[in-house]
Amino acid sequence: MTASALPYDYLIVGSGLYGATLAYRIRQAGKRCLVIDKRPHTGGNIYCEDVEGIHVHKYGAHIFHTSNQAVWEFVNRIVPFNRYTNSPVANYRGQLFNLPFNMNTFYQMWGVHNPAEAQAKIEEQKAEALAALNGREPANLEEQALALVGKDIYLKLIKDYTEKQWGRPCTELPAFIIRRLPVRLVFDNNYFNDKYQGIPIGGYNRLIDGLLGDTPVVCEQDFFAPISPALAALCPKLLEEVTQQTDRTLANHWRKIASKLVYTGALDEFYGKRLGALDWRTVSFQTRIEDTPNFQGNAVVNYTSHDEPYTRIIEHKHFEMFGAEVYECPRTVVSEEYSTEYREGMEPYYPVNDERNNRLAEQYRQLAAQEEDVLFGGRLAEYKYYDMAPIVEQALAVKL
Ligand SMILES: Cc1cc2nc3c(=O)[nH]c(=O)nc-3n(C[C@H](O)[C@H](O)[C@H](O)COP(=O)(O)OP(=O)(O)OC[C@H]3O[C@@H](n4cnc5c(N)ncnc54)[C@H](O)[C@@H]3O)c2cc1C
Repeated sequence: MTASALPYDYLIVGSGLYGATLAYRIRQAGKRCLVIDKRPHTGGNIYCEDVEGIHVHKYGAHIFHTSNQAVWEFVNRIVPFNRYTNSPVANYRGQLFNLPFNMNTFYQMWGVHNPAEAQAKIEEQKAEALAALNGREPANLEEQALALVGKDIYLKLIKDYTEKQWGRPCTELPAFIIRRLPVRLVFDNNYFNDKYQGIPIGGYNRLIDGLLGDTPVVCEQDFFAPISPALAALCPKLLEEVTQQTDRTLANHWRKIASKLVYTGALDEFYGKRLGALDWRTVSFQTRIEDTPNFQGNAVVNYTSHDEPYTRIIEHKHFEMFGAEVYECPRTVVSEEYSTEYREGMEPYYPVNDERNNRLAEQYRQLAAQEEDVLFGGRLAEYKYYDMAPIVEQALAVKL
């Protein structure tokens, strides 16, 4: 069959932000594409569930932020973004602190009123830590953090939180995990330094829907599973061709429906994990409805002591409801976040950048570079952590 006789120019595996942005571009270029996803919904990790009229970030809180004007203008053309500004609060044994570390935090910590007083306090505490090191390099994360910000900030805002995240004492974590701990000597609780940030008005699903437009999408179709009835209905010839065969796995037949493949699934899965499995870290969520319009007064509250087993509580409505809107919606949805050791079958969230995994990923990348007509893109296929804006930037840069 010649390429032009195929029903689609591109088959996109994965309807997350990368796959959806490429689908948009392919459509704009006048080409035909089909998107599949193994989940029952589109959007990948930015998908939101509607609960009590609130968009619940099912796979973890997502805040779009960028300094790239072209990316910001692109996403805002699909759906306008709101003015949400991320300004997390830390709760240490009932004491509240603003984050990131700034003049508000230092006032709450020490009662200091101006940058000179704050600077003096930080220097005094750093000096204590440096004296304890007695000229040697910090040997672990604890010593590193103490040398960077001193004991009060470390003990109340870093130590237990980091231990919950990593499941290990800070004295057993390498120093390089914390290279810098920026402190701001201004009263500014805006977490990001980027020029633009916000949440799509109407939620992330509107961004994905806008990108996918009228592109055909088949959900609950795993690339490595047999061709589903929904996919067969879109490609009747494909079904005819494979119907007599015992192997009806889409991965082995995709060239019958499209001339090019965009693969945004896991890199090792593409090769049946033949060189070994890549490791991930993950987060699990316990989500509940609270019968109050305003549970914690902020979208993100970090719990920085071991008193609570979770690292953060997210109150989803605050991403999109402001002022009186918060009270017009009578209930609220909150999610406790727990750092969890990854096991097979869990959501893979963060790549593990240790030596074994970096080496293995590189070996898979070498295999991937030899594939013809296959583009590997997005966080899973690259085995790299990317924020949303760089994902859009990369998808916009692909040469079609
Ligand atoms: C907990 C968490 C919080 C985050 N918060 C932020 C934030 O605040 N701000 C920010 O900018 N970024 C954030 N990110 C990053 C953001 O989630 C990613 O940049 C973005 O989701 C990447 O999009 P993607 O399309 O590459 O991957 P995904 O969203 O994972 O999409 C991949 C899709 O491929 C599908 N798929 C995989 N394998 C197959 C297969 N075999 N067959 C069919 N379909 C398949 C999956 O079901 C999925 O839908 C966060 C990430 C995590 C993990």
